[in-house]
Amino acid sequence: MIERVLVTGGAGFIGSALIRYLISHTGVQIANIDKLTYAGNLESLADVEHSERYTFCQADITDAAEVQRIVENFRPQAIMHLAAESHVDRSIDGPIEFVRTNVMGTAVLLDAARKYWQALPEHEQQSFRFHHVSTDEVYGDLEGSTELFTEVTSYSPSSPYSASKAGSDHLVRAWQRTYGMPVLVTNCSNNYGPYHFPEKLIPHMILNALHGKPLPVYGNGMQIRDWLYVEDHARALWRVVCAGVPGETYNIGGHNELANLNVVETICDLLEELVPIKLAGVASYRSLIKFVQDRPGHDRRYAIDASKIERELGWVPQESFQTGIRKTVSWYLENQEWWQRVLSGDYRLGRLGAAGVN
Ligand code: NAD
Repeated sequence: MIERVLVTGGAGFIGSALIRYLISHTGVQIANIDKLTYAGNLESLADVEHSERYTFCQADITDAAEVQRIVENFRPQAIMHLAAESHVDRSIDGPIEFVRTNVMGTAVLLDAARKYWQALPEHEQQSFRFHHVSTDEVYGDLEGSTELFTEVTSYSPSSPYSASKAGSDHLVRAWQRTYGMPVLVTNCSNNYGPYHFPEKLIPHMILNALHGKPLPVYGNGMQIRDWLYVEDHARALWRVVCAGVPGETYNIGGHNELANLNVVETICDLLEELVPIKLAGVASYRSLIKFVQDRPGHDRRYAIDASKIERELGWVPQESFQTGIRKTVSWYLENQEWWQRVLSGDYRLGRLGAAGVN
């Protein structure tokens, strides 16, 4: 029975969805380690921050002494590791930070977990779980193929981001093989939903469209991604921690393969329905679409075979892309203060005086 969960990266997009899920659907105590980079936003946790079951701890996962101290004091039965640099374009402009956090940070966290785990009584060692949250981008590009990524697809990452995540996945598996620590790895497709940082495709398009700005689509917009609603991902992650077999990998995906251009057009059509455009000289949201030079090394197609987690752990996504994108667009319309404070930078003001695990 898991009672205490240490989450890393809980102020990010998926981490905050996971913590909201754990507070509303379980009785566990949660400690959240987050450095609060530009991507960390404590305002995404406003609904849960006053819960007695939640503690925030501002720390960098590459800080070995601090991470060890937090792990030893909180004494988790499971660690769910989401902290990462996550934006592919930023990894092209500045790859070293991605290697530092994603590779080095994961190694530091693994080693703190190992030292803590090795000192546990044997029955607690067996039930302990280290869950590493990763991406389908480690598998590379499915261009020209109708295949899907499975858990045994070989790794072939294309960007500094996906290469750094691939490195971290290998480290996690090495900690199981070498030390016997019970680890779980999940590789998930593209997420979308509420509280998504506006630099990512879907919120970027929603907000640009609302402001009548161009909607920049890379290349011809035919890059295919498999989209999963973030709350479905959070539910899958908890299912894996509770029921996954140590040492196993589970792919998580939404059976929603869509070209980027289709995604942008769907957003335009939904906005047209919900807030008909009234900008002088702009005929429709779709007319804001502008094709721009493609990203270097841009993968053409990702597609996930999620049949293992469905078959073995009984998880299936609840949202189709049609229902999930409608919820997402509506959320951005109804929560303008959240994203306005991100766009203005004011979301960073709430960072001082964050509490911690003593
Ligand atoms: P995000 O960028 O929104 O959040 C990352 C969080 O990690 C932020 O709160 C940030 O402050 C924190 N962080 C960054 N560096 C840190 C450090 N050195 N120490 C402590 N905290 C640090 O990312 P996300 O989209 O929520 O992704 C979470 C995880 O899920 C990542 O590991 C990512 O690779 C993986 N993933 C993401 C997607 C997706 O579509 N977003 C899909 C599959 C897997």
